[in-house]
Amino acid sequence: MRIDILSPLPHLLKAPFSTSILAKAIEKKIIEIHIHDLRDYTKSDKKQIDDYSYGGGGGMVLMIEPIARCINKLQSSRDYDSVIFMTPEGKKLTQNICNQLSQEKNIIILCGRYEGIDQRIRDIFINKEISIGDYVLTGGELPALVLCDCIIRLLPGSMSNSSCALSDSFQDNLLAPPIYTRPCNYHGHKVPDVLLSGNNKKISEWRDEQSYVKTKKNRPDLLEK
Ligand code: SAM
Repeated sequence: MRIDILSPLPHLLKAPFSTSILAKAIEKKIIEIHIHDLRDYTKSDKKQIDDYSYGGGGGMVLMIEPIARCINKLQSSRDYDSVIFMTPEGKKLTQNICNQLSQEKNIIILCGRYEGIDQRIRDIFINKEISIGDYVLTGGELPALVLCDCIIRLLPGSMSNSSCALSDSFQDNLLAPPIYTRPCNYHGHKVPDVLLSGNNKKISEWRDEQSYVKTKKNRPDLLEK
């Protein structure tokens, strides 16, 4: 898989790809990440990529041309399955969306900033708008990283035990059960006996039950799905 991320502040995107599972996935060539600085696509001497909003209003708006130039260049080299704009106005990100995106080959992710981007970019190029939640951040870089992280950990080979991803919260509309490691007794707080029993059937039943109890308590809405 290849992901191209377009941003006005590309340095914000670098660190998470240089460590842990994401870095290993890049090293193993499971994923290619290409980060593009929108300022490299402006013809303005001052590297301007934003301008005032027509009709007035407080914030600046990312201009069409630099974004269009960058997307056109990428699309002239290969087909993209998704051209995603990260926006609080988008569809809320879910595990299901991540599962679907993890099946795709080439993805473009556009990060907004300031008041957002010129609507015509959305009309012409964007085929998915994704929000990471009902709150507003200063820019789309953190949301883009959230999206990339969720997708990359699902790619076969990126995690040493890929079955882990299947037992994560949300994969079956249930939250994950409690987990424990050594010591088995911490100042009287003991690991449940069943997990030490070696009886896989009972362990699995206990985990299913705990998942259900936790979901009912914390996220009853998931059980309605
Ligand atoms: N004026 C916009 C609005 O009210 O919807 C918010 C603009 S926000 C300050 C700047 C950029 O941050 C957005 O264009 C978007 O790319 C990104 N952003 C902020 N919150 C986000 C969220 N919850 N999910 C995804 N992207 C977000």
